[in-house]
Amino acid sequence: MQGTMMDFPLTLAHVLGRAGQLFGATEIVSRLPDKSLHRQRYADFHRRAKALGAALQKLGLKKGDRVATLMWNHYAHLEAYFGIPCAGGVLHTLNLRLHPDDIAYIANHAGDRFLIVDDVLLPLLEKFSAQVKFERVIVVPLTGAAVPQGCDDYEQLLAAAPAFVQPALDENDAAGMCYTSGTTGKPKGVVYTHRSIVLHALATATVDVLGLSNRDSLCPVVPMFHVNAWGLPFSAAMTGAKLAFPGPHLDAVNLLDLCQDERVTLSAGVPTIWMGMLQALQKEPKRWKLQNNLRMVCGGAAAPESMIRAFDQFGMRVIHGWGMTETSPLGAINFIKRELEGLSPDEEYAVRAKQGVPPPFVELRTMSENGEAPWDGKAMGELQVRGPWVAAGYHELPSETDQWTKDGWFRTGDIAILDQHGYMKIADRIKDLVKSGGEWISSVDLENALVAHPAVLEAAVIAAPHPKWDERPLAVVVLKPGQSATAEALREHLAPLFAKFWLPDAVLFADAIPKTSTGKMLKATLREQYQNYFT
Ligand code: ADP
Repeated sequence: MQGTMMDFPLTLAHVLGRAGQLFGATEIVSRLPDKSLHRQRYADFHRRAKALGAALQKLGLKKGDRVATLMWNHYAHLEAYFGIPCAGGVLHTLNLRLHPDDIAYIANHAGDRFLIVDDVLLPLLEKFSAQVKFERVIVVPLTGAAVPQGCDDYEQLLAAAPAFVQPALDENDAAGMCYTSGTTGKPKGVVYTHRSIVLHALATATVDVLGLSNRDSLCPVVPMFHVNAWGLPFSAAMTGAKLAFPGPHLDAVNLLDLCQDERVTLSAGVPTIWMGMLQALQKEPKRWKLQNNLRMVCGGAAAPESMIRAFDQFGMRVIHGWGMTETSPLGAINFIKRELEGLSPDEEYAVRAKQGVPPPFVELRTMSENGEAPWDGKAMGELQVRGPWVAAGYHELPSETDQWTKDGWFRTGDIAILDQHGYMKIADRIKDLVKSGGEWISSVDLENALVAHPAVLEAAVIAAPHPKWDERPLAVVVLKPGQSATAEALREHLAPLFAKFWLPDAVLFADAIPKTSTGKMLKATLREQYQNYFT
């Protein structure tokens, strides 16, 4: 029997139309390079995104053509987020923190035809322009400086655009693409569809995920070149929530000012951002007046329990989530389920420090050598995931099939534990796990315990080769400015929390921990540095 429902494609054209028609008065605020605030409304965004689409069509954009962006988080990037896919193109966000040679490799591999670039990023473009062949380079004049010869001026292009004609879109048409940041090897492209983005936005907005409402004011700190700023710009347009973009100013003071002045109710970013914000708040606890219960989505790396507790003291709520470029990224989100009501505060914090439960339509499992691992809160296994916004392959890498199982699950490369209530906890990346004498040690657990020590700012635990045990944990610790602690004191701090064989054999001190383009600890570099420490 056939259903009797309309065949109505799930596309971004609907989301853009809805934002313009229903939420035209909602504000979009962007911090510009000179730190002033640019303000426009959803009505302007709706008009200008369509003008961008029409301008690109006039330049010859065809269905499926890739349009790259090299931009910070701001109003024009939001226009590109919708203007490009609604015109049938594919939004390809380039990561401006990568090495210029890597950006060139990615733009060439993706086959990008056009580029939209912030004027303040032209010096970066200069570094790889000889290696790429964009047909047109469209410059967004954020500073008001003249656009260089040979480039198009974004504002002039929009002003001269013909009327937008909406092409027919299928929900399975490509709408966006993003390359993995290469923490674990060569960057690989993931292509999102209209359908995957729309379903992801819808799930993100539900109450037990981020609970987004028209009354919210969102500040996406996570870059729009990092997995679509976790989909927040799409969810915001769908709900008509206010947006407050930080532009290039991601330091704690500018972010706190923006959150205060624009009455931000929800923000999102990696732990490094929140650790910086916490330090600023602790230094000047009375300086900012923030919205009560400001929600801070924290993902990309594990949120330490000590950080979740510390923000609670300021009436701010860290929401832990897990995801990957390949999962759009929402794969798990933390909320306290009804069946857990009545936990003691300590028990509740332990649950909140887990990465959470999958949202609707995402399924998780952990696989050990003996098949699916039990949901018992103890067994570790490789985390696998499936769902309508999980990648089924990489762009033009047909031989890269190892990351999918024969029965259709994506192998994340993370080692996780599922508990009886369905909460997932990341123990490690497979490569970072310490394998000592046949037992697994979670470097993430040790790191989180180390940063809970009052003198510790950051900690990385790595596996160092060991003649007797194969590998032993080695901790590299950065102390807070003006604080001191000995290696012995830190081992004593860990001792009551872990089995004896988990304790790092060495605790070393460093000035900084190397980071990736997305702010994650670059453990591969540390592993190389300390590979002969125990041998
Ligand atoms: P890359 O794979 O290049 O680092 P992604 O941004 O796709 O780029 O990173 C996804 C990975 O980040 C996950 O596989 C996981 O290892 C890690 N990750 C994401 N969120 C969390 C989290 N909340 N806790 C621990 N690790 C996380």
